Amino acid sequence: MVTDLMIRAEGLQKRYGDTQALAGVSFDVPAGTILGLLGPNGAGKTTAVRVLTTLAVPDAGSATVAGIDVVKHPNEVRHHIGVAAQDATLDGLLTGRQNLTLVGELCDMGRRAAKARTVELLEQFELTHAADRVLKGYSGGMRRRLDLAASLMTRPPVLFLDEPTTGLDPTSRQRVWEAIRGLLDEGVTVLLTTQYLEEADELANQIVVVNHGLVVADGTPLELKEASRSARVEVTLATPSTAAVPAIAGLVAGQVHVSEDGRQLTAGVDSSPGLATTLVRALDAAGVLVDNIEVRQPSLDDVFFTLTGDHIEEDVAGDDGLDDDDGGGGGSRRPGVNPSLDGSGRATELEGANA
Ligand code: ATP
Repeated sequence: MVTDLMIRAEGLQKRYGDTQALAGVSFDVPAGTILGLLGPNGAGKTTAVRVLTTLAVPDAGSATVAGIDVVKHPNEVRHHIGVAAQDATLDGLLTGRQNLTLVGELCDMGRRAAKARTVELLEQFELTHAADRVLKGYSGGMRRRLDLAASLMTRPPVLFLDEPTTGLDPTSRQRVWEAIRGLLDEGVTVLLTTQYLEEADELANQIVVVNHGLVVADGTPLELKEASRSARVEVTLATPSTAAVPAIAGLVAGQVHVSEDGRQLTAGVDSSPGLATTLVRALDAAGVLVDNIEVRQPSLDDVFFTLTGDHIEEDVAGDDGLDDDDGGGGGSRRPGVNPSLDGSGRATELEGANA
């Protein structure tokens, strides 16, 4: 069945024991576009992918891929999708070429067609030079590109990529990004999960931010950039006071977060002249003593904070250090920090878009 919406998730819920991995997730992915499903560890991204790729059955809600219901017709769905999961499924003892051909044969392509497609994909993903080396000797970036190639053997119209660049160095990440961008030219519809705001910004037409199994924002990268213009105020009290939050609640955007020791108050704010003075006056009038107040222009981590009340975690993963002809590329691996997106303004457009 042909449809303009290649992926449709409606109110997906999934619980594992005490953990509500998905608490009602909805989104649509139009044909020929990339959706970035963005969120920190444990947000529910992989669970959403598992449901959409028929590997898990939702407790509630429904989903279609290529217009086909994933619960009612899982086998049919599988004929329309490619999946590059986090746990790589390729065989380390086979060469890149052998791996791809094997995947093709397992998908009933026939040996001849599988071999021809293998040559094409090795070329497309710049792996021809390493085609006859065993996978064990590939760098992390090369492996992820081979994962991508494998998921495309049967030319599926819909592709799911679960954190395609997690743990890669910046140079390898760039090359995987280029490979993913290239897929759009072929009309493939892509859902990719990522912990990197920057990655979603680079690749996705539409970004859905999930946290604790819920969609907390849904918009284009541009809309997220608008959101990143929200400034943030940090107030340090001389001593904790229950009067502090009520005093400033009406003057800030969204919820006021209080630190464990009760002395630090943090909240998103609309950047406006004299805001710090207004806040200090309000606190003073409530009898609250202030040690320090700071209105900070945002980083993308702040956008996430504004949306979720949480920070995206530091990524300490690195490339696996195997024979790397992908180039080294040092530099920051901190996700979600893209200085080009910094700005000032407000962030309310996306809030509650789909929560
Ligand atoms: P990550 O970036 O770490 O992969 P994620 O956003 O993909 O995170 P999920 O893997 O979907 O998150 O997990 C969501 C929550 O559900 C987590 O708290 C996780 O521990 C829990 N969870 C996922 N799968 C299972 C399972 N099979 N059994 C028990 N709990 C699970």
